[in-house]
Amino acid sequence: MRIVLLGAPGAGKGTHCKRIAERYGLLHLSSGDILRRERADGTGLGKKAQGYMDKGALVPDDLIVEMMSRAMKNASAGFVLDGFPRTVNQAQVLDKALEAQGVSIDKVMNLLVDDRVVVDRITGRRSCPACGAVYHVKNMPPKADGVCDKDGTRLVQRPDDTEAVVCNRLETYYRQTEPVVGYYKTSRSVDDIDAGGEADVVAQVIFRMLDPLARKKK
Ligand code: AMP
Repeated sequence: MRIVLLGAPGAGKGTHCKRIAERYGLLHLSSGDILRRERADGTGLGKKAQGYMDKGALVPDDLIVEMMSRAMKNASAGFVLDGFPRTVNQAQVLDKALEAQGVSIDKVMNLLVDDRVVVDRITGRRSCPACGAVYHVKNMPPKADGVCDKDGTRLVQRPDDTEAVVCNRLETYYRQTEPVVGYYKTSRSVDDIDAGGEADVVAQVIFRMLDPLARKKK
């Protein structure tokens, strides 16, 4: 299966993509995670991306398209895309690349949440730099304050998760990424999902939509 999960920053794309990838045996391809790894490794791409990410702006399309094309080469079992495509141009390039391979996106889902919820979710978000586990200071705190349940590493806040940067990221989302939903709606159905509630409840809604597709693909 090839799935695209759309939604504003903080809508829960990362959380749900992880669950989808586990349940259906897909590769979870998060453009944000790949960029953060490139930065941590000090690569040329990481250095070029840094300034854009810290401001809450988008990294230029050509860099992202090349990076994601490379990542998708390893996804013969299928993938769930998280954070990509984020511009109409990226979505068009992705459609063309898949078409050239004789395949296409099987399902586009759009997670919907209020801006107020987004700001609260993102500013309270903490993650483990070692294993990538994600927590929230109020909604999903770790067992011991500030420490990862899985490996005991001290949790960190992403530098772009501060309130000022979140406002820029939201503005960027509405200007450049929301049109991607419109782009997909012109050629296929997009499932809008109310993602403001508990993650477990939202996940059940997502699985109810994807289970029949997964059975058909078997
Ligand atoms: P995320 O973890 O998805 O919130 O992404 C973090 C940051 O990485 C974004 O604010 C952008 O600066 C950059 N980024 C991630 N995905 C893309 C993309 N598809 N296109 C452009 N920039 C991206």
